[in-house]
Amino acid sequence: MSTKTRVDARRSQTAAVAATDSSSTTKEDLEQLNFLTPDIAEAVREQFTTPAYVYSLEVLERQAQTALSFPSAYGLTVRYAMKSSPNAAILKIFNKLGLHIDASSGYEVRRAVAAGIPAENISLSSQELPDFFPELVNMGTKINACSVQQLELFGAEFPGGEVGLRINPGLGSGGTGKTNVGGPSSSFGIWYELLPKVKEIVAKYNLKVVRVHTHIGSGSDPEIWQRVSSMSLDLCRDFQDCVTLNLGGGYKVGRMSYEKSTELAVVGKPVQEAFENFAAETGRKLHLEIEPGTFLLANSCSLVTTVQDMVTTGGPEGHTFLKLDSGMTEVLRPSLYGAQHPLVTIPTGREETETASYVVVGHCCESGDLLTPTPDDPEALMERPLTKTEVGDLCVVEGSGAYCSSMSTKNYNSFPEAPEVLVDRQGSLHLIRQKQTLEQQLQNEVALPPDFV
Ligand SMILES: *Cc1c(COP(=O)(O)O)cnc(C)c1O
Repeated sequence: MSTKTRVDARRSQTAAVAATDSSSTTKEDLEQLNFLTPDIAEAVREQFTTPAYVYSLEVLERQAQTALSFPSAYGLTVRYAMKSSPNAAILKIFNKLGLHIDASSGYEVRRAVAAGIPAENISLSSQELPDFFPELVNMGTKINACSVQQLELFGAEFPGGEVGLRINPGLGSGGTGKTNVGGPSSSFGIWYELLPKVKEIVAKYNLKVVRVHTHIGSGSDPEIWQRVSSMSLDLCRDFQDCVTLNLGGGYKVGRMSYEKSTELAVVGKPVQEAFENFAAETGRKLHLEIEPGTFLLANSCSLVTTVQDMVTTGGPEGHTFLKLDSGMTEVLRPSLYGAQHPLVTIPTGREETETASYVVVGHCCESGDLLTPTPDDPEALMERPLTKTEVGDLCVVEGSGAYCSSMSTKNYNSFPEAPEVLVDRQGSLHLIRQKQTLEQQLQNEVALPPDFV
């Protein structure tokens, strides 16, 4: 990355990050703990070792309730996009609150069923339709065909059956190029211009298209939601059997204090009106589905880590590096997207009033294992002002609930999968996934016959 782009990338940040360049940063300017307290974080380390994911029951329930109050004209189903964090405890908590499930693979469907989720509460929108999809359909799981081939496979197996269509309406609203899941550069869903082909297949197998699904990506702009909902409603016009419109997920959530979160009541209002207008015009009162993952999980989990080493490099280009006992093995998003996660250092056994700027890295032998990348350039590092830190202090990586535990370079360098813990309203800690053992990492390896080695 050129120096110029790096400077521009920096300028695009607000004061909180720009403060990196000044020596006047005070503790008040720093990112704060979300739901943890220093005492609870220390208790997590003592009981479960670090790194450990800690999920807040209170935040999970609050986000679920907010999602359930998304404005809707004629009924709403909220599906939890379980790929964001699929632990059975989380699935059960949401199931109890009345959420259904969006699964992204046949294996996720099986995993949700194993957690006790009724199969008919699960819908599958998958890049790869598994060989065993008929078994899932026979259990009651709903399928959204995400390509022409998937629709053909479904029709051949279930002529006369009910199916959903995931359509790429030609519009996207991604946070970065990599998170854009609508528009011509996205492979997700059936390109809207292929609808004549879709109708041919529907007619050939006498299918009933009962759901239309459009998930266009991580946006928080009400105007985009208005446009996509009216385009999606237009698609429902083409399918007389359609009773449900699913608008997917993609509600952007601020992790850093300067980032904005989507207000569901605001983005949902024009959607509700569009449904009402559609009903006035066609007489069809469509049911609304939404599928948030990030919205439910992003700030529902904090990763507790330990600063296990510090190194410095010299010269004007030099930095002080904090090395955590974690990194891309638990939180890959910074390396993958240049995503910014709040980092909060907690001095143990002493008061600390000073701040200092650090580059924070993970424990893998991999230069991309970086917790403080430049936004949108995962490979360029950036210093972050933090409470002055020593080896042995805690460092909490906030915003670690969505696409962290579920999407990491687990077992790289043979580091074990980290434990997951749930903290309840009383501050009590409940283990919901054990730390992996070495035996578990090795269990699928098969030894060669002795004459080879
Ligand atoms: C990933 C995904 C979601 C959830 O997206 P978020 O950005 O986490 O809200 C919803 N629906 C589908 C089909 C998805 O693939």
